[in-house]
Amino acid sequence: MREVYLNGQFLPEDQAKVSIFDRSLLFADSVYEVTSIVEGKLIDFKNHMKRLDRSMKELGFEKSLNHDEILNFHRQLIKLNNLNEGIVYLQVTRGVFDRDFTISKKNISPTVFAFTQEKKIVESESSKKGIKVMTVDDLRWKRCDIKTTQLLWPSLAKTEAFKKGFDDAWMMREGYIMEGTSNNAWIVRSKNVFTRQSDQLILSGITREAVLNCAKNLGYEVIFKNFTLPEVESATEAFITSATSFVTPVIQINEKKIGEGEPGEFTKALRAEYIKQAIKSSI
Ligand code: PMP
Repeated sequence: MREVYLNGQFLPEDQAKVSIFDRSLLFADSVYEVTSIVEGKLIDFKNHMKRLDRSMKELGFEKSLNHDEILNFHRQLIKLNNLNEGIVYLQVTRGVFDRDFTISKKNISPTVFAFTQEKKIVESESSKKGIKVMTVDDLRWKRCDIKTTQLLWPSLAKTEAFKKGFDDAWMMREGYIMEGTSNNAWIVRSKNVFTRQSDQLILSGITREAVLNCAKNLGYEVIFKNFTLPEVESATEAFITSATSFVTPVIQINEKKIGEGEPGEFTKALRAEYIKQAIKSSI
């Protein structure tokens, strides 16, 4: 059985309990981060912590958390669970108090918990075969830049995509592709790579930031721009980025193949470059 972390303690997973009055249960009032682990080390941990601070600040959480302490319990979990490759999931909720729409109580202690999941990331099946995506309306709220646990629509959309034989859904607003259910969306056209500009309608991915530089290293120009479904259909390649998928080719959108309908050469090179850089700077 896995050991998990909850508010300063390490516990077997079936003994970690949170209150029914936790704001995360009642209002999805919580934020999270997912850090990938390769060879037992954390990828891009510092940037995940920066984004965590920002998410907490945007929601008006009273205090930020100590990054060294977080690093410490991440490392302990990796050790306790013998994790070589996978993720550490971290969630921070506003805390526990009687149900009330007004966040009236002061000095609430946040609930902090974390757990590990084993996952084949470097040699994943989807990175070799590529994935098929389906488009859906983006029915999320308009603060997708905050990494909250309000994930019902992405979860329903991905489930619907699975039922229809796709691997993921790309969410659209007013004719433009925003992002995947849990990843950023990209297309390639000649020597240019397009990804949507960061604003409140998408999450600014940590992997995306790192991949920008990798694309430049490979001699490609990165252009931050909204793109439409026809632009995806006529792209030479497409891919997604996230902490758990790194760089993963997208080979089909709805019923239309992208490029040759196989993982593209640039996407493969970009993935290799990203993995090289990520492992080199892991801690
Ligand atoms: N967009 C959304 C909606 C996500 O949930 C994620 C995954 N957290 C991403 C993009 C990619 O972010 P990252 O590269 O930090 O995993």
